[in-house]
Amino acid sequence: MALDSAGDTSLLLSREDVPPVHEDNAAGSSPFLLTSDHYGRLLPRVLGDLGLPASELTRHIAWDIGIAGVAEALSKHLDAHLIAQRYSRLVIDCNRPPHAASSIPPISEAITIPGNEGLAREAAEARRAQIFDPYHRRIGEIIDQRRHADMPTVLVSLHSFTPLYAGIARPWHIGTLYHRDTNLPPLLLKALRAEADLVVGDNEPYAVSDETDYTIPVHGEMRGLMNTGIEIRQDLISDSAGEKSWADRLARIFAGIEPMLRAERLI
Ligand SMILES: [Zn+2]
Repeated sequence: MALDSAGDTSLLLSREDVPPVHEDNAAGSSPFLLTSDHYGRLLPRVLGDLGLPASELTRHIAWDIGIAGVAEALSKHLDAHLIAQRYSRLVIDCNRPPHAASSIPPISEAITIPGNEGLAREAAEARRAQIFDPYHRRIGEIIDQRRHADMPTVLVSLHSFTPLYAGIARPWHIGTLYHRDTNLPPLLLKALRAEADLVVGDNEPYAVSDETDYTIPVHGEMRGLMNTGIEIRQDLISDSAGEKSWADRLARIFAGIEPMLRAERLI
């Protein structure tokens, strides 16, 4: 068997590769369920380095810099279940519909990804079957389990964004991303805007859509859960002190929102 072939569908993840799904605090009692689609930047061994230099594999095109530390600390502070995906979004983007061209990007921000060029359908399907599907199946299972246990679920999808995009500096420190939920995003925006030192993006630098997103439309909106995406600027969480301070801040903010949702009988 040609283990060095990126087109080998039978073996994408081998015994030496870790499973795609990472979970923290699975017994957490918080109504907030945290997800992190771009948590990790691992590559399955069989894919080598996707033909990229190491410098590209640590850049934001490979993952959401800083969000893993924020997500783990926030999970701890809120006593919230975190479900995260460990493989690089260059292997398959877990926040894109699998049929989208950007699901397995042949080019990301003008960088060609040689290991994704001319990918056979079977190879793309293996990435979906072994990374994308297990992650989203797990989120679905957890939402089901919580429902059966009469435990409320408010989905919070955690991301980070690059401070410069196409040469333009982005002014926001943090942004909320939402589409169909009209309950949680206004409360979150109000709480964030009450922080005097923050420039807050309202559906900036991105907005959620069915074409460009997966986690919020599928697990939040289609299942009728309150939800929001959060985007934190990467230069603010590029070290452990930054990760800690943003996790502390978000924990305080979500802890303040929870009783408001209860008072409105939304959870
Ligand atoms: Zn992201």
